[in-house]
Amino acid sequence: MVRSCEAVVVRMFLEIRELEQKPVRFQQSLPIGVIPFDSEFEQQSPLVASGTAELQVSTDEIRVQGRLQVSLRMECDRCVEPFTQVIDEEFDLIYLPMPETAPGAEIAIRPGDSNIGFYEGAGLELNDILQEQVLLALPLQRLCRAECKGICPTCGQNRNETDCHCQQQIVDERWSALRNL
Ligand SMILES: [Zn+2]
Ligand SMILES: [Zn+2]
Repeated sequence: MVRSCEAVVVRMFLEIRELEQKPVRFQQSLPIGVIPFDSEFEQQSPLVASGTAELQVSTDEIRVQGRLQVSLRMECDRCVEPFTQVIDEEFDLIYLPMPETAPGAEIAIRPGDSNIGFYEGAGLELNDILQEQVLLALPLQRLCRAECKGICPTCGQNRNETDCHCQQQIVDERWSALRNL
């Protein structure tokens, strides 16, 4: 792989005025920490993103399509051990101009339109889009592996590492309770 000596561009504003001329291509490799993530996650790799942004001139809709990749280190929901989750996502998003509404008025979003967002003013900050897409791409349940056995609720040991036999005892107790009915 050839590495170039170009200065690292860490921000990119998708500006309406520029998009009116032609679609904008982006190809970003953002060093660790450029996009802030919750302290629950430790970024392990640069965030790589590429794609295009284009403007639908008649409606002022901005369509942003592309792909992003990043590795995040986080704790397993079951066993609390750290593990690395690789995020590799394609996205296809539509941003509409923010409707002019009274302050506090609710904006009706059609149900199921999770790919639709809003922008205000002169355009959109690409990093904001990427941050949101990474968070949306995270699995609801964060598991070090699908078959993680988790922490034993009785003795607190990591059941991936130690076979503590507590579960067996609980099951036995239930059976004896049934027998006593
Ligand atoms: Zn686990
Ligand atoms: Zn146990």
